[in-house]
Amino acid sequence: MARNLSRKAYEKAIRSIPGGVNSPARTFTSVGAEPVFASSAGGAYLYDIDGNKYVDFIQSWGANILGHAHPSLTGAIRAAAEKGISFGLSTPPETELAELVKKAFPSIDSMRMVNSGTEAVMSAVRLARGYTGKNKIVKFEGGYHGHSDCLLAKAGSGLATFGIPGSPGVPDAIASETLVLPYNDPGAVKDTVKKHGDDIACILAEPIPANMGVVPPENGFLEVLREACNESGSVLIFDEVITGFRVAPGGAQQLFGVRPDLTTLGKIIGGGLPVGAFGGRREIMDCLAPGGLVYQAGTLSGNPVVVSAGIAVLKYLLENSPYEKLELLAGELEEGLKTAFKKAGKEAVINRVGSMFTVFFSHSQPANYSHARSAEVAEYGKFFSAMLDAGILFPPSQFEASFLSTQHSPGDIEAVLTAVEAWLRK
Ligand SMILES: *Cc1c(COP(=O)(O)O)cnc(C)c1O
Repeated sequence: MARNLSRKAYEKAIRSIPGGVNSPARTFTSVGAEPVFASSAGGAYLYDIDGNKYVDFIQSWGANILGHAHPSLTGAIRAAAEKGISFGLSTPPETELAELVKKAFPSIDSMRMVNSGTEAVMSAVRLARGYTGKNKIVKFEGGYHGHSDCLLAKAGSGLATFGIPGSPGVPDAIASETLVLPYNDPGAVKDTVKKHGDDIACILAEPIPANMGVVPPENGFLEVLREACNESGSVLIFDEVITGFRVAPGGAQQLFGVRPDLTTLGKIIGGGLPVGAFGGRREIMDCLAPGGLVYQAGTLSGNPVVVSAGIAVLKYLLENSPYEKLELLAGELEEGLKTAFKKAGKEAVINRVGSMFTVFFSHSQPANYSHARSAEVAEYGKFFSAMLDAGILFPPSQFEASFLSTQHSPGDIEAVLTAVEAWLRK
């Protein structure tokens, strides 16, 4: 499969954009390939600028649960844009979107919109600190919560992909306020809260980590986080930027029945436009300016075009509830892959929750970041490249999730299995 135009576009981009990309996850260096430049996409398929067609399992890193350019979404965006792209004043649809989110998330009494997941988590952490009057935060190895200063320690996503333990540019004084624990280790949580509980403003977790590859929480782990926060008077923040409306309308907290104090959202709730939101218990949210003293603001927050996209997606999801169908299709893919790997004697496991999954080339299912890191990354690179050449686009990193959309069909799953079997025969 020729990608000459992508290569040329990359060579050109490198001269004007650092690394040739506006987000590190878009380079293909960790899988030993050159980045693909996209030209258009519809439904489950993406076309590159050379005209190659791919079954897309990146789907804008999970934002596109309805697939690319879903008509109900593009229609809503067009209609909103024609009425004015940004006002700098409030609009009724912002409340409508907040109400739709509240309907899906009983833990959210009120919600504020921002422009990215990074901003959502950064703001939620500030709010937790302002509310509790405490400074330290607890996060987990391999958890990714955007790129704000205090959250880059031992983070997943691009930092995992490129082996960056923490980022230069983050002062030690800030990094030292972040306590980093292994995921799925209740003992570590209990010990830390016993020792530092009086200083801990919040425990921040992806309730289903998806930025070290997908790593489901073990039975009872989220409950341990809830209890630890109750004991220490800390705020429990679930970062559901990926999992919100992905694994269930009410996210991982619905799936596992654990209620956080604050929730951060992003990706799906903007339908592919830049978005983030955070919300939770009224008593905490009321500490935000203008009613309270914790400051947080945004020129374009709650932008009418973004909000219209969010409303269109959430209405579609709440009205059509595609989750069972997604589960079935993703289950078929998982089973097919397992069978193919087993038949070929290939050491590989699949971690999956609903429509998100990761293929790890390792002998056992990773339950934390160090397990995930011990997977054969070079093997993932070979798998990635073979799939790419067969017209199947998986994320260009072992440490990212793959996503199905409502537009993927059984035929697309078959195409993957055929390609995987052909690769395994070689
Ligand atoms: C993507 C992601 C973020 C960051 O969102 P951006 O919109 O990229 O800033 C934060 N947390 C989680 C769990 C994410 O997956």
